[in-house]
Amino acid sequence: MLKLEKVSKYYSAGGVVATGFSKVNLELNIGEFVAITGESGSGKSTLLNVISGLDSYEEGEMYVNGMATSGFTRNELEEYRKKYIGNIFQTFNLINSYTVYQNVELVLLLSGANKSEIAPKVHEIIEKVGLKEYESTKASKLSGGQKQRVAIARALAKETPVIVADEPTGNLDTKSAAEIVELLHELSKDKLIVIVTHNYEQVEQYVTRKITMHDGKVVEDKQIRGEAVCTDTIEPKEAMSESLSIGNTLRLGVRNTFNIPAKFILMLIVFVFLCGGTVAAYTSVMNEESYMDSGYNEYFRNTSPERIVIKRQDKQVFKIADYDKIASIENVDRVIKDDLILDTTAYFSNDDSYWLSGSLEDAALFENQLEEGRMPKNNHEMILVVCDESYAIDSAKTAYKKKSYLTNDYTGERLIDKKVKVVGYGILTEEQQELMQKNMHYMDVYFCLNKKGLNEVRYSALQGRSKTVFKYAGKEITSPIKTYSFIPEGHVYINEEIDALSDQWAIGQTLKVNTSSTYFDDTYSFTIDAVYSANNYNYLTGATSYEDDSGYVFMNPEDFKKMYTKGNYQSSVMVKDKTIIDDTKAQLEEMGYSALCMKDAMFNEGEEYAMMEKAFLTLVLVGILTALFFVTYFILKLILKSRNVFFSTIRMLGGTKKNCADLIRVEVIMVANIAFLICAGVISLVHFGVIENISYLNQLISYLDLKSMAVIYVLVIIMSLLQAVRYAKSLFKKTAMNAYKEEV
Ligand code: ADP
Ligand code: MG
Repeated sequence: MLKLEKVSKYYSAGGVVATGFSKVNLELNIGEFVAITGESGSGKSTLLNVISGLDSYEEGEMYVNGMATSGFTRNELEEYRKKYIGNIFQTFNLINSYTVYQNVELVLLLSGANKSEIAPKVHEIIEKVGLKEYESTKASKLSGGQKQRVAIARALAKETPVIVADEPTGNLDTKSAAEIVELLHELSKDKLIVIVTHNYEQVEQYVTRKITMHDGKVVEDKQIRGEAVCTDTIEPKEAMSESLSIGNTLRLGVRNTFNIPAKFILMLIVFVFLCGGTVAAYTSVMNEESYMDSGYNEYFRNTSPERIVIKRQDKQVFKIADYDKIASIENVDRVIKDDLILDTTAYFSNDDSYWLSGSLEDAALFENQLEEGRMPKNNHEMILVVCDESYAIDSAKTAYKKKSYLTNDYTGERLIDKKVKVVGYGILTEEQQELMQKNMHYMDVYFCLNKKGLNEVRYSALQGRSKTVFKYAGKEITSPIKTYSFIPEGHVYINEEIDALSDQWAIGQTLKVNTSSTYFDDTYSFTIDAVYSANNYNYLTGATSYEDDSGYVFMNPEDFKKMYTKGNYQSSVMVKDKTIIDDTKAQLEEMGYSALCMKDAMFNEGEEYAMMEKAFLTLVLVGILTALFFVTYFILKLILKSRNVFFSTIRMLGGTKKNCADLIRVEVIMVANIAFLICAGVISLVHFGVIENISYLNQLISYLDLKSMAVIYVLVIIMSLLQAVRYAKSLFKKTAMNAYKEEV
C-alpha cells in the first residue's frame, strides 16, 4: 500500500546539509504492525514524518496505492494526510486548553462531519480508549498515559487506514507504556500501524515486522509473525464533506477566542489600542479637514460653523413670536436677533496714526474681564477687550483714555457720529479665547459698547448694507447723510450741488429719499430748509470743516434712526451641536424660515488647493493607520506565538491551510468586534455626558457621527483581517512539524 523507492531526506540548515535518512526502500501494507527501531539520531522520526506527509523528501519516490507522491502539491499532500494518516506523537500534541471531548471532537469537525453524528462517535471512541470519566477534563490535567490515550482516540476518530506513532511510550512509565501498546495492538486490525521505538522489548509480543535503522539507513527488515498481504487498493474512507463547515469554523473560532483567558485579555487590549488609535487618527484628521473646509465669505464676517442665517420665507420682519418659536428648538443655543453687528468689523483710528480693528460686542458680556478703567456709561464710551497677546494688550493700553471715531472697515463711514472714548480695557480668559477660536469669531480686539452705543452702530451698519437714493427735481442722487440735532424732524439741508440740478429755488421744495435692500423698499419725504455752500456752511451749522461735509444731506438724528430702524429681516441662530446643524436647518425651514448654514456659504481658496490639502490629510491618515497596523501586528504576533502549537496540531490532524486561516480570522474578528464595542461604549458615555471633564476627548468625538463610526468600524475590520492573513501566512512558512518542534 505504501512503497518507498530509494527515498532520501536531507536537512539543510545554515548552509550545512544533514542527512535525515538516505536511499530507503520499503513496502508497507494493511494488517501490518511495524516497529521501527534504532539508536537516537538514526532517522526514525524523519522516516515516519515523510511517510505521514508531514515532511517532504528530496530523492526517490514514495507511492501510495501505486500513486507517485513526489509531484504532489501542498493541497494534495494535505488531502493525503487527511485521508490516510493518523499521527501519534511522543509529546502527545494535544490541545491543552481543550477537554478530552473537545480534542477528539476537533478531528471530526476538521473532517467535515455533521453535528448529529459527532457526539455519539466521540463518546464511543473515548469509551474505547478507556477515558469515559475524563471526557470533560482539560487535557492539561491528564497523566501521560491518559494523554496518549486521547492521542490514540484522536487517531481513531480520523478513521484512516494508517496510524503512525513516534515513540508513543517514550514519556510514559512502564505500566502505562504497556497499556498503550496493547491498546494500539487491539486497534490494529484492518490498519497499518507503524510504531517507532527504541525500546523494542515493549512491542515485541505484538509486532508483525521489525525494521532497524542505523545512520539513516535501513539495516534490517525482518518479518516476525504473520504474513504480509499485499493490498494495493485499499481505499480510505471518503471525507464526509470537503472540509470544516462554516458553522463549525465559527464554533471552533469562538471556542478558541475565549479558551485561554490571559491570551484573550491581551488580544483585547491590543485591539482596543487599535480601535482607539483608529478613532483618534480618524477624528484628528476630520478635525483638521473641518477647519480647512471653512474658507471665507465676504458678506458674513462671522463664519462660525455653528451659525445659521435665517429670514422669514415671506420676507417680512421678524416678530417676537418668531423668536420664541425659534428659541424653543432643542439644538438652538442662542438667537441673535440683529446679526448685523455680528458681521460688522469696526475700525478705531485717530490722528496719531495708530489703529485697531475688531468686532463689536455688548460690553455687559465682559464686565468681569476689566483690567483697568470702568464700564461705558453712555453711547460715546467703550471698553476694549483683547486677546492675551502682547501687541494687542499694548494697543489697548495705548488706546486707553483716548477718543477716536469708530468707522466701518470697508466704507470708512462712521458707525457712531461722535468720537468714542476708551474708558477701560480687559483681557479675555484663556477659555474664552479657545472658545472664540474654535467658533471662528476669533478677533484680537473686541470693541464693547453699551446697548445704546450698539444701537447707533446698528443704524449705520444697516445704512451701509442698504441703498439710499435721493430724488430731487426728477433726478436720482446718491449722497451720504449727516445728522445735526438742531435741524427739525422732517426737514433737511442740501448741498448747493444738489440744488444745481434744478433751475428752481430749492428751499421749501420736497426732497424724496428711497431706502431699499433685499428686504425693504421705503420712500420718505423731507422739506428742504436750506441749501448750504462754502459761504454759509459755518453760519448754518457752526462747524468749520466744509471740505469734509460737502456733498452730505443734513437731517435730524431721529429721522435718520427712523429710516434705518427696520426691525429685523435677517437674524442668526447659533446651535449647540454643530454636528446636527443640518437637522436644525431643516427644522427651521419647516417652521417657515429660509435658512443658510454658514458652513455651506463658504468660498474656498480654490478647489485645487483644497483637493491637495485633502489628499495630504488622507495620506497622513493612511500613514498613521499603517504605523498603527504594524505596531499592533508586532504585539499580536508575540501573543499569537502561543497559538503556533495549536495551529501546527490542527495541521497535523489534517486541517488545511484554509482551515487554519479561517480559524484565525474568526478569532481576530471576534476580538476586534468586542474591542470596537468597548470603544463605541466609551465614546457613547462621553457623548451622552456620563463621563465628563475630558474636554480633549469631547472635542475629538464631536465629529463622530454614526457614519464615521461605520467608516472606523470598516477600517478596524479590514486591518484585523489583514493581521489575520499576515499571521496565517507566517504560520505556513514552516512545515507543521518544524513549527511544532520549534515551540515545544
Ligand atoms: P531519530 O528519530 O531516529 O532520533 P531523527 O529522524 O530525529 O532521528 O534525525 C535523523 C537525523 O536528521 C539526525 O542526524 C538529526 O540531527 C537530523 N535532523 C532531524 N531533524 C532535523 C532538522 N529539523 N534539521 C536538521 N537536521 C535534522
Ligand atoms: Mg525521533
